[in-house]
Amino acid sequence: MKRSAKNPNWTKWVVTDRIVTYASPVYVSERVGIKPKELHIFYQDTGKAMRMFGVALTEMSTLIIVAVDELHGAAGAYDPVDNTVKYIWDRDNVLPEERLGVIIHEMWHRRQAYDAVREGWTITHENKSAYIAWLAEKCRKRMERLGVTDAE
Ligand SMILES: [Zn+2]
Repeated sequence: MKRSAKNPNWTKWVVTDRIVTYASPVYVSERVGIKPKELHIFYQDTGKAMRMFGVALTEMSTLIIVAVDELHGAAGAYDPVDNTVKYIWDRDNVLPEERLGVIIHEMWHRRQAYDAVREGWTITHENKSAYIAWLAEKCRKRMERLGVTDAE
């Protein structure tokens, strides 16, 4: 696993090194010890989940592997602003099927962002909350069409 020089863009979150053996950007926190084979599973499963949701591999998210406390209790996080996905690496407490569940969940958010861009969105830090509200409204309409309404 080759590491390149630090990418200054990520220092605002976590100190990471870029793993240069991948075609798309992959970063691993300096605080994480992960074997190349284990990192490869994250990368491959992320790609597979994207394809499952109909997103081309050319749109691959930037992968960032962080330590448990670097994600504030979450197992994964997708950021539509810069198309990055962060996963925690916790070999002892996360089962492989749980990890896959997290990857699928985050890649569903990838698909949502992909659809939003096709519907004219440019998601930025400034309009991110408007984007989330737009997503919620879209889901509400879809649920209404399914006949799901307030019980009150
Ligand atoms: Zn979520």
